[in-house]
Amino acid sequence: MLVRELLERVKFSIRGRRQARVLLFSLVVILLFSAWGCGRGNPGEKTTASRLLMDTHVDLTLYGVDKKTSQQITKEVFAEMMRLENILSRTEAGSDLNSVNRAAGSDWVEVGPELYLVLGKALEFAELAEGAFDPTVAPLLELWGFGTEHPKRPSEDELQAVLPLIDYRLVRLDRDRSAVFLPQEGMKLDLGAIAKGFIIDQGLEKIRKLSSGAVLINAGGDIRLSGKKPSGEKWSVGIEDPLTKDRNSGEPCLAVLHLEGELGVATSGDYQRYFKEGGELYHHILDPESGMPAGGLRSVTIVAKDALTADALSTAVFVLGKERGLSLLEQLPGIEGVLVDEEGEVIYSSGLEGKIELMR
Ligand code: AMP
Ligand code: MG
Repeated sequence: MLVRELLERVKFSIRGRRQARVLLFSLVVILLFSAWGCGRGNPGEKTTASRLLMDTHVDLTLYGVDKKTSQQITKEVFAEMMRLENILSRTEAGSDLNSVNRAAGSDWVEVGPELYLVLGKALEFAELAEGAFDPTVAPLLELWGFGTEHPKRPSEDELQAVLPLIDYRLVRLDRDRSAVFLPQEGMKLDLGAIAKGFIIDQGLEKIRKLSSGAVLINAGGDIRLSGKKPSGEKWSVGIEDPLTKDRNSGEPCLAVLHLEGELGVATSGDYQRYFKEGGELYHHILDPESGMPAGGLRSVTIVAKDALTADALSTAVFVLGKERGLSLLEQLPGIEGVLVDEEGEVIYSSGLEGKIELMR
């Protein structure tokens, strides 16, 4: 009953050509003044720095701080992000996560507070998404070869052999010892769908010890916004068109979100990591039930109070698909989403009414 009521509240909003023409002028203006997005440029007092971290460019924009303070903040924040990346990486040889994975089927492993916290959150989101989000997805990712130079489509037998290892309900946590146990040999954790959000949230925490000014952290499209810009403008966040598939194509945004407050914004898309085989495109967001790349949607952008939540839910909703994903979003207060389906249709949750500007 509750679910039906919630579904009825969902507003499906479809872009229209006439609206796009009306908004064309606004597009140019917004892109010129965009804090982040498919355009560039931003007025006002600010300093920016960029670093290659987490396999992407992390851009840090600070408002209202002098150059010296900004340099100090930048140095500390990037160092902290690198530290966290090393703890949460599946592939980094000495990482906490790698130790847990190597001990699967044999030993409990005591881990630092960061991994314990992120894993606990990942398991909560797995529960919320009824397994569509699953941090035990790593054996499948390895089977597909994502992250290697030679990804390939596995056979049905190979998939069936690995699927029993993918089950977040098997992961054991011991809070008192801050320890983790994967009970079956071959099980492996991957936090690629949530770690980036956590790391940029932690970056903001670090900044807040040194500055109270507005902050924008953009890690390749996963974003943390905080504070008010000196100009008083809202933050404008562009949503890329997944159909153009090219970040640097110069294509206009599909939509722009006008946002204020303390927010995390994250996008999961089939265009972010993929390979082609036999004319088919295979992307990196896998449906834990079938072991195949999740179908139905091209991208999902989530707006939440923090980046960890936005990051986890963008992946979860991508796997859940249009109806189930939107229904989940409508049940979660303070969390909104923009979904782009296979036809390029834009659908968004009801709370974004008045905050989203469709561009075509
Ligand atoms: P994102 O870009 O945040 O959607 O994260 C995608 C990454 O999450 C992939 O590259 C994998 O490392 C991991 N992943 C893929 N499928 C899933 C899934 N169903 N649940 C959790 N993590 C996943
Ligand atoms: Mg994610």
